[in-house]
Amino acid sequence: MNIILLGPPGAGKGTQARKLVDERAMVQLSTGDMLREARSSGTEMGRIVAEVMDKGHLVTDEIVIGLIREKLTTGMAKGGYIFDGFPRTLAQADALGVLLADLGQPLDHVIEMRVDDAALVARITGRSTCAGCGEVYHDVTRPVPADGKCANCGGTTFTRRADDNEDSLKTRLLAYYKQTSPLIGFYYAKGMLEGVDGLAEIDDVAASIAAILD
Ligand code: AMP
Repeated sequence: MNIILLGPPGAGKGTQARKLVDERAMVQLSTGDMLREARSSGTEMGRIVAEVMDKGHLVTDEIVIGLIREKLTTGMAKGGYIFDGFPRTLAQADALGVLLADLGQPLDHVIEMRVDDAALVARITGRSTCAGCGEVYHDVTRPVPADGKCANCGGTTFTRRADDNEDSLKTRLLAYYKQTSPLIGFYYAKGMLEGVDGLAEIDDVAASIAAILD
């Protein structure tokens, strides 16, 4: 089963994708994670994308489609893929359709995570991530355990993303509405769009997603 999690920054796509990875034999393909990996590895591509990401703009279609193509053509995951943060433009959606068709793979569900903008600012500005395993925490709603150790892997280093600030978020939201939200109509017209309330508790969102997948 291959699915897309669609929604603005801070909607909880990464958190839900990680739960699906833990609970089903699915593989998370997050273009944001791939780009952060590229920038920290100091490659030429990493240098090019770093500035774009920090400002909150979208990286070119060519780069992200290339990253996804590379992952998909090196062997399919048994339990299927969760596309997290991809596609973000109509060109990316078209490219994904072609890539999956070439591999004889279906796109089973497109799940829109619905949230309101006011909640996103609070979510994004309090967010931190375990450097060891990527577990996501939040200063108010899910603080790092009192012993300072990640509940998932025991790691003690937590990082905040350079683009998780109010200025970048404004640009990221604008990019979402201008470039990504047309995908809602695109997949709706194909009869593939399903929605969940992204403002519900993490486990309740997960249950809504499970109800769609099963
Ligand atoms: P994310 O972790 O999904 O919030 O992505 C972080 C940043 O990486 C975005 O603000 C963009 O600059 C870049 N990015 C991630 N995925 C894409 C994509 N599919 N297309 C273009 N830029 C992307």
